Amino acid sequence: MSLEIKIYPHLALRQHCQPIKDVDQSIIQLAEEMLTIMYQHQGIGLATPQIGKNLRLIVIDVGQGPFLLVNPQIISRSGKSSMIEGCLSLPGVQVKVQRAEKVKIEAINLRRHQRLMQIEATGLLAHALQHEIDHLNGRLIIDYLSWWRHLLIKNKLRKLSKK
Ligand SMILES: [Zn+2]
Repeated sequence: MSLEIKIYPHLALRQHCQPIKDVDQSIIQLAEEMLTIMYQHQGIGLATPQIGKNLRLIVIDVGQGPFLLVNPQIISRSGKSSMIEGCLSLPGVQVKVQRAEKVKIEAINLRRHQRLMQIEATGLLAHALQHEIDHLNGRLIIDYLSWWRHLLIKNKLRKLSKK
């Protein structure tokens, strides 16, 4: 099976994903395949809506090794941090996004005995976690743009929708 990354404005990117009830072999396999396709595209994160599936599953690797997370939830956040972010579903688009500087996440970690665990993150990892969890709620980086910045990248977005 080979997964295909959905490009904006694909409707799958706007869905609100359902929690995963059973972590079975098919979920583990899907997560591993997502990680593979993410690496192939030189991404640092990928969420299920980006491959057209309605499940709460994200994969991330910001250079500290992979996280394969089921039903990730932000349980605390603090501080503010701005970073330029890209997205595999918005090729060529970069947006400065302000997020929490530090987050605590609870998730089932598929690479750690499938146990529910807490992950504390700052910097790039914190941004990546928040970016991917946004995807599970149908939210994209362009939603953070002010209306006039949105106007500036309108042509870029229009080109994507014609592809
Ligand atoms: Zn993204």
